[in-house]
Amino acid sequence: MAIGALATIASLQAHESLGRDFPVLLDMADRFATPQIRNVATVGGNLCHAVPSADCAPPLMALGAEVTILSTGGARTLPLESFFEGPKKTALRDGELLTEVRIPHPFARSVCTFERMARSYVDIALASAACRLSIDEGNSISEARIVLGAVAPVPLRVTEAEELLVGVPVATVTDDLLDEVAARAAADARPISDVRTSAAYRKHVSAVLVKRSAAEAVRRLGE
Ligand SMILES: Cc1cc2nc3c(=O)[nH]c(=O)nc-3n(C[C@H](O)[C@H](O)[C@H](O)COP(=O)(O)OP(=O)(O)OC[C@H]3O[C@@H](n4cnc5c(N)ncnc54)[C@H](O)[C@@H]3O)c2cc1C
Repeated sequence: MAIGALATIASLQAHESLGRDFPVLLDMADRFATPQIRNVATVGGNLCHAVPSADCAPPLMALGAEVTILSTGGARTLPLESFFEGPKKTALRDGELLTEVRIPHPFARSVCTFERMARSYVDIALASAACRLSIDEGNSISEARIVLGAVAPVPLRVTEAEELLVGVPVATVTDDLLDEVAARAAADARPISDVRTSAAYRKHVSAVLVKRSAAEAVRRLGE
């Protein structure tokens, strides 16, 4: 599936099959600011603006998205997780435009979830988390991708937390394991304190959101 850079957040909500194939993107779009903002904000703009709280980034990174970058010199692709270089800094060089985001076709046995917390529904996230889990034929977790938003200079994959889940039969995932995953993920967070909240609260909320998103992915995979 390819999403053009100029697709608005509202157009994701209106798309015929996006919600069926990638329900996490619909979930993200439904929680993105207000209808007025969603009508003008584009997926490309949200990614290229590269603020750590950008809501498109965690679910797209968890889904393994790639971006296509075009200039007069030709096109190149990059994994989205290599696109962000710092707050408001991306891998785009002079003369380059992001033209589309490509998402691998969803595995049948894969679920991706997204959680965010903000001071109010209209405010940007003070922390967010996306979690994609895939299971193999034996119903063990074969792949985990967990991405934190708003708690580091860039959207952050927390690979040590992911590794705690890989190989675990989905039916045996316990609350204690999810607590461990959440604590490991939050340990990697490097949040700042600002007008919205403190760094310590962002870290705490990160753990809560990772646990919620992973628990929901496990629940859906168990159905
Ligand atoms: C009241 C309010 C609430 C908001 N709430 C949220 C929220 O809940 N979640 C959230 O994630 N964000 C939120 N935002 C931020 C806002 O939605 C983003 O800034 C918006 O998504 C940017 O998209 P845009 O299309 O307007 O990009 P623009 O503002 O037009 O562009 C942003 C930057 O990226 C560059 N750019 C844009 N497209 C490309 C491209 N294709 N290739 C190369 N460079 C490009 C532009 O030159 C510019 O530097 C909120 C903003 C406001 C004002």
